[in-house]
Amino acid sequence: MKITFLGAAGEVTGSQHLIETQSARVLLDCGLFQGTHAETDHRNRHFRCNPAGLDAVVLSHAHIDHCGNLPRLVHQGFDGPIWCTRATADIAEIMLRDSAHIQREDVRWAKKKARTGDPVPEPLYTDRDVRRACRQFETADYHTWAEIAPGVRLRFHHAGHVLGAAICELEFLDVDDEVRRVVFTGDLGRRDQPVLRDPDLVDCCDVLIMESTYADRVHPPASDVREALKCLMQRALDVGGRVLIPAFSLGRTQLLMYLLNELRNEQASVKIPVYLDSPLALRLTEVHQRHTEIMDAGVQQTLQSDDDVFNFPGLTCIRSQDESMALNRAEGPMVIIAAGGMCENGRIVHHLKNAVSDDRNAILIIGFQARHTLGRQLVRRVPHLRIHGRSVPLRAQVEVLNGLSAHADAVDMKWWLDSLTARGGASHFFAVHGESEAAESLAGLAADCSAESPVVPKNGESWEI
Ligand SMILES: [Zn+2]
Repeated sequence: MKITFLGAAGEVTGSQHLIETQSARVLLDCGLFQGTHAETDHRNRHFRCNPAGLDAVVLSHAHIDHCGNLPRLVHQGFDGPIWCTRATADIAEIMLRDSAHIQREDVRWAKKKARTGDPVPEPLYTDRDVRRACRQFETADYHTWAEIAPGVRLRFHHAGHVLGAAICELEFLDVDDEVRRVVFTGDLGRRDQPVLRDPDLVDCCDVLIMESTYADRVHPPASDVREALKCLMQRALDVGGRVLIPAFSLGRTQLLMYLLNELRNEQASVKIPVYLDSPLALRLTEVHQRHTEIMDAGVQQTLQSDDDVFNFPGLTCIRSQDESMALNRAEGPMVIIAAGGMCENGRIVHHLKNAVSDDRNAILIIGFQARHTLGRQLVRRVPHLRIHGRSVPLRAQVEVLNGLSAHADAVDMKWWLDSLTARGGASHFFAVHGESEAAESLAGLAADCSAESPVVPKNGESWEI
């Protein structure tokens, strides 16, 4: 068996790992490389494996750095099955359509700005490629084996992380009819988070490929966010202010909706209008409403008395740009959850421009803010923000909470690995999907679990097992 790390090795985007045996070639994930370098575009356009020669793709979950290059793979000749859970198929379709739309807009903008004769690259893929890729989805339930290629079977386990995410357990019939067990964690979620189940534990295996995004840190609990939400909403009611929450469309927005619904159920006194101002997040919330059967015990219990855990009195979903702009003129206390997460683009930008200079307002930051983004300026509480090219004074309260991270931290990863060690561990261990420090930290955490020394593979490296 040969494993080649084609992406998310020593970095966090472009998840792609190729497994080859004498009878099958299976690609784990087909994520988009994200970044601004010219090299990123080249890597997305040119696969380092032959798409037409693959027997199957296994998709761990629907984040774009895991599924975002599937339409390109299909465009370049892959016509086999793309295996994933049902919820992942539903979410991936929405994410891929959105990705094609963004690419189309980027190209239109680039063509407008280009001087005559300047080359403008075409989008990586079109809506047609997205439709073809989605027709190739094959879904399997959690905990059920499926034959996905000659001599290869697959079983999904709950990974937490985002709805539909799976730890992928594969068995390959290798030379001399020997069965090789491979476990690929995809992105691993946290324990004791609302909505999603805890990551499942798995049995011993020959090869473990594990993500390492936050293996070098410890997250605060989600309960902090709940308390902060309560306090900020009460303050907004008292002073007549608004609470702005820049939110990532998949996962964190639905967690917020769930927490707001819970607060509303428990404490009817926090009656404040809430606006969800993101058509993409709204479509993804609808997928969540259709897949409550795979959610945790807390959701099942709430469903006994409340038939929609992501909806509550006082919630308004904003669809059009005009309705979104009209909120700037609205009076009274309110909560606005708007895309995008790092405040660089999306509707949150005009809400911020309208609200940051009023000290009755508050901004709740609940996700990672990359360097050089407007979100990072908010986290640093700089006295003057640059919004749409203008300097705007920051007088609103800024609250920063990291309790809703969708990724396991060092404590969760240690717990998961210890349980695997107790079940016989792994023969070979590979730490992927993390900056080098995080990946090295995970390799350290996995030392007891792996018979061979844990490895942090480099991009393009192959290992014979
Ligand atoms: Zn992810």
